[in-house]
Formats: sequence, C-alpha cells, structure tokens
Amino acid sequence: MESGSIDSSVSSLIMMDEDVNLHHFSSITTKLHSNGPTASSVYQLLECPVCTNSMYPPIHQCHNGHTLCSTCKTRVHNRCPTCRQELGDIRCLALEKIAESLELPCRYSSLGCPDVFPYYSKLKHESICNFRPYNCPYAGSDCSVVGDIPYLVTHLRDDHRVDMHSGCTFNHRYVKSNPMEVENATWMLTVFHCFGQYFCLHFEAFQLGTAPVYMAFLRFMGDEREARTYGYSLEVGGNGRKLTYEGSPRSIRDSHKKVRDSHDGLVVYRNMALFFSGTDRKELKLRVTGRIWKEQQNPEAGVCIPNLCS
Ligand SMILES: [Zn+2]
Ligand SMILES: [Zn+2]
Ligand SMILES: [Zn+2]
Ligand SMILES: [Zn+2]
Repeated sequence: MESGSIDSSVSSLIMMDEDVNLHHFSSITTKLHSNGPTASSVYQLLECPVCTNSMYPPIHQCHNGHTLCSTCKTRVHNRCPTCRQELGDIRCLALEKIAESLELPCRYSSLGCPDVFPYYSKLKHESICNFRPYNCPYAGSDCSVVGDIPYLVTHLRDDHRVDMHSGCTFNHRYVKSNPMEVENATWMLTVFHCFGQYFCLHFEAFQLGTAPVYMAFLRFMGDEREARTYGYSLEVGGNGRKLTYEGSPRSIRDSHKKVRDSHDGLVVYRNMALFFSGTDRKELKLRVTGRIWKEQQNPEAGVCIPNLCS
C-alpha cells in the first residue's frame, strides 16, 4: 500500500523533472546558437560514451582520443572501454574548457530553482541551493530518503509510522520503565501540523559526558529563514518544580545530531527527570507540554545567535 503511494509521487517528480529540463535545454540551445556550435553537438561531445552522463573536468582520453568521464575512468581498470588499449593518464583539456564554459541549470531546477551557472559555480551553488531536497528528519536510523516537505511528511507517516498531530499546543507524556538504562539510541519523533507548516518534536535520552540526560527540541520542516519566523516553548515539571525552554525551531537542514549536540532544546538531567516523575525512581514519567507560535517580527530583523545561524 505504501509502496504504491511512493511510486506515484516518484513518477510525478520525474515527469516534472523532464519538463523543466526541457525548458532549460531550450534556453541553453538559444544561447549556444549565437556563439556558433549547436547545443546538441556540444552536448554529444560532452556525453561520456560509457555511462552517457555529461562529462565535467577532469575529462580523460586514451592514446587514440576516446574520451570518458572521471567516474568511469576509475572503473575501467586502465583499459579504454572503446578501443581496449591501455588508458594511461591523459586529460582532454580542450573538452574540459568547453565543459567549464557552459552555463548549466542548477540540478534542482525541477524543484523550482531558476538559476543557471558555469560548471564550478554550479557545484558550489548546489551545496547550498534553497531548492535542494531535504533529508528525512527521522532520527532513529540512517534513512537515505530525500525529497520536498510534502513528500517527507507522507514518508514519515507511512514508512516510519510517526505520530502526526494537528494544532500548535501539545502535551506529551514520556514513560520509561527502566530509566537507569540510557542508551544513545532512545528517541521519539512526533510531527505537528500548524500554521500550514510541519514541525518535528524530538525527545531522546543520551549521555552528556558522563551524565544521562533527556532532551526535547523542535525542528521546522523547511529552510532556516522560515524557521526563524516561528517560536516555541517546552515545559517539563512535577513535584512543584518546572523547567522551561523557549526558542526558535531549527530547520531540518540542520541534522538531528547537530541540534542535539548544540543543546538547543530542553535538557533535563536524569536525576531531575526522576524527581519530576515523583515516583520511587523506578519509572520515568515526564510530562512535556509545549506551544508553537508565529513570530510577528520581520525575519530579517531577527537576532542571529552565533552557531545557530550558520
Ligand atoms: Zn562515464
Ligand atoms: Zn580508446
Ligand atoms: Zn539551485
Ligand atoms: Zn526516512
């Protein structure tokens, strides 16, 4: 059932991809026509005869002049795949110059990026492009799924069975029967849907130095800029005491581990947590309440805390 729904999203993504690439391709064609060679002949020259991907520097060639891309070169055991002669280590500088001079659409053009760059600036841009897909925010495994926010929300719900909630306030109870065991792998994720956006509430247990701690924090499913337009508070307490934390959710661009390691959230030491639990320290019962709100201020005017706004 889930695989069916994922398949359909993937195929619609691919269709979109082709559309946008066609659009960019025609704009490049126009540009190249004015310089002389046609786009198709240049692109054919730059197509690796082995893997058919576009070749970028370093581009290699054999003694007979057959070209191939650097990825393929590492795979062919020093034999030219075209003429089977020994490959050696010859670069094809002329073709490299052509490849460098071409303006190429950002690889995330299908996701909405309108920018076009020469090869090297393109690589640089793509690592920070605002349209690049997000990694799956699930913390419990090395999940390699990437996509846009609606796709990841569906993925979290269907594939990771994450709890989904609507509303901007929450009241969660975390119970653990054997709180003396703190493994670094104890975590929970809940997704909240409010203000038309999605937020990930993380709760986890880990060792902070030698002290076992629990930590709750919020991440925003979107980019850093938009994340700063929201605020949230978390509160945990019991036995007439309470701890609160107030901040801005971090973007899921920041990995779960990065946020955790920066302690940007509500950190509760185990002794305190057990005190809040109000029991004979046999069971952890933490009630975490919280609220998400939209900041009124202009995000550009927001205070940038070093380390949090990288
Ligand atoms: Zn290749
Ligand atoms: Zn050859
Ligand atoms: Zn881009
Ligand atoms: Zn995932």
